Amino acid sequence: MERPRLATFSSSSYFDDRGPHGYAQPITEHVNPHSRPIVSYYFPKGVGAQHYGEHHPMKPHRLTLTNALVLGYGLDKQIHHIYNPRSATQAELEAYHDHDYIDFLSRVTPQNQNEMRHLIETFNCVEDCPIFSDMYDFCRMYAGSSLAAARKLCAGTTDISINWSGGLHHAKKAEASGFCYINDIVLSILELLRYFPRVLYIDIDIHHGDGVEHAFYHSNRVMTVSFHKYTGDFFPGTGKLDDNGTGVGKHFCLNVPLQDGIDDDMYLTLFKTVIDDTVTAYRPSAIVLQCGADSLGCDRLGAFNLSIAAHGECVNFVRKYNVPLLVLGGGGYTIKNVSRCWTYETSVLVGAAVPDELPSTIYDSFFRDSHWKLHPPLTGKVDNLNTAASLQRISIAIRTKLRYLQGAPSIQMQEIPPDLGGWLADEQRTREEKDEDKGTALAGERREDRSIARNEFFESENDVDQDEPVSAPPSRARGATSGRRARGGRRGRGRGRGRGAAASTASKDDGDDDGDEATPAPRARGRGRGRGRGRGRGKAVSEKDKERDKEKERERDRESETEIANMILEKESTPTTSASLDVDVS
Ligand SMILES: [Zn+2]
Repeated sequence: MERPRLATFSSSSYFDDRGPHGYAQPITEHVNPHSRPIVSYYFPKGVGAQHYGEHHPMKPHRLTLTNALVLGYGLDKQIHHIYNPRSATQAELEAYHDHDYIDFLSRVTPQNQNEMRHLIETFNCVEDCPIFSDMYDFCRMYAGSSLAAARKLCAGTTDISINWSGGLHHAKKAEASGFCYINDIVLSILELLRYFPRVLYIDIDIHHGDGVEHAFYHSNRVMTVSFHKYTGDFFPGTGKLDDNGTGVGKHFCLNVPLQDGIDDDMYLTLFKTVIDDTVTAYRPSAIVLQCGADSLGCDRLGAFNLSIAAHGECVNFVRKYNVPLLVLGGGGYTIKNVSRCWTYETSVLVGAAVPDELPSTIYDSFFRDSHWKLHPPLTGKVDNLNTAASLQRISIAIRTKLRYLQGAPSIQMQEIPPDLGGWLADEQRTREEKDEDKGTALAGERREDRSIARNEFFESENDVDQDEPVSAPPSRARGATSGRRARGGRRGRGRGRGRGAAASTASKDDGDDDGDEATPAPRARGRGRGRGRGRGRGKAVSEKDKERDKEKERERDRESETEIANMILEKESTPTTSASLDVDVS
């Protein structure tokens, strides 16, 4: 295919064309191969073939496009592990969601929806959240991926996990919302909380991350920070500056409400200030980053002016903290740009340079109108209603709020979730590790609890999957019986499809989730276990130990790794054109 070379570079100063290579090139490997983080990439086979309906803006096909570009650039050679994870089980979904709701999702089909009309309305599976074929399978796929990605971080065998099919941040405990049925983010954070004391959730989707905020509104073990458009009637209608958590969760929730048209400079200045202040104050032991791409300029539903380069710079900024990182997708409705964005962000996360010219794939037709560039001009299409003064007000307000977190003992830890029970065979810990455990136990993080320390010795993903927890974390125990309190007065809201969104604010106080019984334990600072547990203990470990660890890791991965090429060849052998998929060509 003819591929004219036109100068359609992003005008953003945040994009750096790193050279003429036609293929992904590692940026840092020539300096020090060990300085590159270990990256695991999750792509559930078949997820991109799902279909919400002909005119629905949510198009899982964007995941297939993303994958094609990631492979086309050869980024799979830079990614350390690529998995086609198993789907989540019903029990795993019910770790957060109500049984009745999951039972409904597992049974409803386009064929029986008339008989189930009453339940369909009860669970808000109307309009924005239609019933489509294989909907439940779709949910189990993306949720299973996020769970596997979180478990790998807990096991300490990866530094960064990526699941572009996840990030469905609006789903509630017993209700679908905003194209989201299962909240894979809440599920994966619950998984991370089994190991990590404090999880920071960052959401750069244009919509407020209401489902995640709601789930952890009462908890100080999860801090949520959402950057979004907020006008009061823009979906989902929540996320104002002064919504900051409640109970022991008070101050552990931040909202950054923005107006239409925010540009790269404003967004990045605010993002970096807020995130830097938050990380300094909260000292997260893991970070979950929702990368909704509807905050890009030219999005079908969004109204911001961000370039792919700036969106990617947010990802890069978070990556640089070197804290175990779970990266998820989210919204994004101009799918050619979503796939560009997540491809670019994959390259940022693996530390590889990719050229602006897109690789040739069977989906070339999607990218023709922007001349097959990775960074088409997306900015400046919407008037910027934000002002320097309005952003400064937000910035100052947030800094003031974060003061409540400064300095011990303001972060009073809730109990670390109990043992997951009998997962593992005897561990082989080095003397140095045992000493380290002693030290951290004294510091109050209770690492003498062997079940927690052992998490890093899973033999494979499968081991983790097969065992049922002996006792669930407090949140789960309650979650199973807490009924459908989370739903009230919020039905009938829609977004982005021409209806006015009635912005009834969900009650924050009907929450039911996460552990309220605080068992104070002082926070241990400077454990130095930030990322790469197992590898992080480097200094004191002999070369021989390191080699042994590496071999163990290789064995684990041989077990469960799937060649992405096989997945792709099997699934996507029939190219789909934009014409047959109702793809927006905006
Ligand atoms: Zn969104």
